[in-house]
Amino acid sequence: MTLEDLKTLIREVQDFPKEGINFKDITTAIKDPNAFQYIVDQLYLKYKDKGITKVAGIESRGFIVGAALAYKLGAGFVLIRKQGKLPAETIKKTYSLEYGEDIIEVHKDAFNENDVVLLHDDLLATGGTAKAAIDLVREFPVKDLLVNFIIELSFLKGKESIASEQNIDVDSLI
Ligand code: IMP
Repeated sequence: MTLEDLKTLIREVQDFPKEGINFKDITTAIKDPNAFQYIVDQLYLKYKDKGITKVAGIESRGFIVGAALAYKLGAGFVLIRKQGKLPAETIKKTYSLEYGEDIIEVHKDAFNENDVVLLHDDLLATGGTAKAAIDLVREFPVKDLLVNFIIELSFLKGKESIASEQNIDVDSLI
């Protein structure tokens, strides 16, 4: 498996979830055993010496590779979820979508001052979701925060909007 092989396994679905959007679908990659292993292994190699104590995955596709990566790094896993799904006390962050708003939340006891957190999602588009998740983690006194995606749509400049503002390590595989 190479990065080029992986790229060919990511399906593009036109006009999903609405007209004009060319959706990058990772389900065709992660159902392939070699590709799934390749993604997790590549991310592991990048982060194995960074002292990561917790991987935080963004609902829901951020849970898949995020959890596998946490296991491999020997780190814990934290769920960042859409509003109303987490059972205990949470901290929330509201962020704007193209039309309207959305809310993500995390448990109040999710992180502590000894944590080096790797925030993970499948894809970075405009950066709105990631920025809200970063703000959420920043509410805790964590030691450090790094951010990672499988795919980044670089033409949308999401990385610039989250990294330049907050001076954090943001990286993507593709
Ligand atoms: P952003 O907030 O505009 O950066 O959008 C990123 C969020 O929307 C992430 O949680 C992604 O999972 C999801 N998303 C947006 N576009 C795509 C896509 O083409 N494929 C998969 N997920 C997408």
